[in-house]
Amino acid sequence: MTGVPFDDREIFLIREANPLADVVREHGVALTETEHGLTGCCPFHTENVPSFHVTPARGYWYCFGCAEGGDVIGFVRKTRSLGFMDALRFLADRAGLTRGGE
Ligand SMILES: [Zn+2]
Repeated sequence: MTGVPFDDREIFLIREANPLADVVREHGVALTETEHGLTGCCPFHTENVPSFHVTPARGYWYCFGCAEGGDVIGFVRKTRSLGFMDALRFLADRAGLTRGGE
C-alpha cells in the first residue's frame, strides 16, 4: 500500500467488498434480524437492551443510545481508532483488494 489517496471509485469498491453486517459481526457484535433490519448491543457503550441498528441494504448503522451512526468506514474508524485513510486500507486488506501496480 502506498500513500496515494483512494479515489471515489476505489472507496465505492471497498464499501461494496465489505458488507457492513459482516464487519460488525467480526467485531464481536451479535446481530439479530428484525423487521427493520439487524439489531444488537452497541459496541460503543454498555447496554443490555440492543439499541445498535444495522441496515444492510443501505450499509448504514445507527445507535439510539449513542445517537451516532455511519457507514462501514465510519464503523472501522470508531472501533479501531483509525483515520479515514487507514480505515480504507484496513478494509481493502480485509477484502483482499489490491491496488494498481502493487
Ligand atoms: Zn451506543
